[in-house]
Amino acid sequence: MVKKRKAEKSPYIKVKKSNIHNKGVYARKDIPKGAKIIEYVGELITKKEADERADKQIDKSNKKIKNGAVYIFELNKRYDIDGNVSWNKARFINHSCNPNAETEDEDGHIWIKAIKPIKKGDEITYNYGYGWEDYKDHLCKCGSKNCVGYILDQKHWKKLKKGK
Ligand SMILES: [Zn+2]
Repeated sequence: MVKKRKAEKSPYIKVKKSNIHNKGVYARKDIPKGAKIIEYVGELITKKEADERADKQIDKSNKKIKNGAVYIFELNKRYDIDGNVSWNKARFINHSCNPNAETEDEDGHIWIKAIKPIKKGDEITYNYGYGWEDYKDHLCKCGSKNCVGYILDQKHWKKLKKGK
């Protein structure tokens, strides 16, 4: 049995076409730093199920677009959450090299939190935190001045610069 986890309606967001990639999530009003913007929800699944789904998501998205979209988040030792479901609006949040939000685990719930004040109308973004492996498959077009060209966890950025 797959457990569904749903989110309270967020007063802060609206989903619309993004300049970065497909759809994005935008601030419906000013958001203060530290605010919990929206919970990342979906289906609670076991690690084994998560591995199988991740393989499928990568296969499917590689055929359609170059940037593989994987929506599975690690929750704890037993469970992950698959956010690739219609009711999870947080899945539309794009990656940026200069993000204004981050994900935070709070008692086993993943929250998107503002790391700086966000103005009404701004697109909400966070760093997807992708690993070093296969980073070349995930091109970044976030348009930030400091864009490193790839969707990559900031902790790997130094390695990227050394490689050039
Ligand atoms: Zn970028």
